[in-house]
Amino acid sequence: MSAGSQQIVPATKPGPLAPRLGAWDLPVISFIDVWKRFPAADGSLLEVLRGVSFDVPAGEIIAIVGPSGSGKSTLLNLAAGLIFPERGIVQVLGEETHGPVDWGRVGYMFQDDRLLPWRVALHNVALALEAGRMPAAERRERARAVLALVGLDEFADAYPHQLSGGMRSRVALARSLVGEPDLLLMDEPFSRLDALTRGTMHRELLLIHELRGMSILFITHDVEEAVMLADSIVLLSARPGRVREKIAVPLPQPRIGTGEAVDLIAHLRALLEESSEEIVK
Ligand code: ADP
Ligand code: MG
Repeated sequence: MSAGSQQIVPATKPGPLAPRLGAWDLPVISFIDVWKRFPAADGSLLEVLRGVSFDVPAGEIIAIVGPSGSGKSTLLNLAAGLIFPERGIVQVLGEETHGPVDWGRVGYMFQDDRLLPWRVALHNVALALEAGRMPAAERRERARAVLALVGLDEFADAYPHQLSGGMRSRVALARSLVGEPDLLLMDEPFSRLDALTRGTMHRELLLIHELRGMSILFITHDVEEAVMLADSIVLLSARPGRVREKIAVPLPQPRIGTGEAVDLIAHLRALLEESSEEIVK
């Protein structure tokens, strides 16, 4: 775990499709003894996270799995610098968060795709670059390249309502990638897709990760998804969320249908069920 004394030195910025592995040596995110409560409707405080510590090592894919309400989205919002811990430290890309992270370096993919219905795919993707000073022509060019990366080059001019669920998900993924992030935060990104499309998205995400080497922190309540994608899985207890287990998944890809993956899925499912039933006073 990094304590903040060391400085992360970014490598020379590579081009859009260049590999990024090795750009960082230290964890891209460190949650260090993070506690968080929210005001509840009755005026009391709802304890959501209790003493959570874990790292997202550079270039790795980390999954957070936990019962509903265990603080998974809260952890992602902490990592995005949208909220702050009451106690403890959240370090992102070498710095403690004090405000929203640099969206030029961090991509965020929400549970719903949040596409603007009045914009075609290309302009939904380019939207992520509009806050910067990049000329419009370059924004379009980059958006086009990333749409090609997710296999949607022919749908650049389609409106969201003209796209299938899987395609919309790809547009949302393209939008979170167009800024060439070092870190991708994903909140149950594929939970609304059917199983077949979800499997396709998993393969594509792994390919893009191999190509780009960005670090990924994603949330899922689907333990199979966690086992298919992650280098390590952080299992949270029921609220207040505490780290119940950290499980390394040193299995080669593709994992689908392999004995080890099937066993690990069963093991995690049992742990998650235990966590969900746990009553905390
Ligand atoms: P998860 O993603 O694991 O389902 P969340 O992190 O979204 O859980 O929420 C955990 C708990 O904290 C929930 O009970 C939720 O209602 C509450 N909560 C989350 N954000 C806020 C907020 N901004 N204000 C008040 N309560 C919140
Ligand atoms: Mg959530």
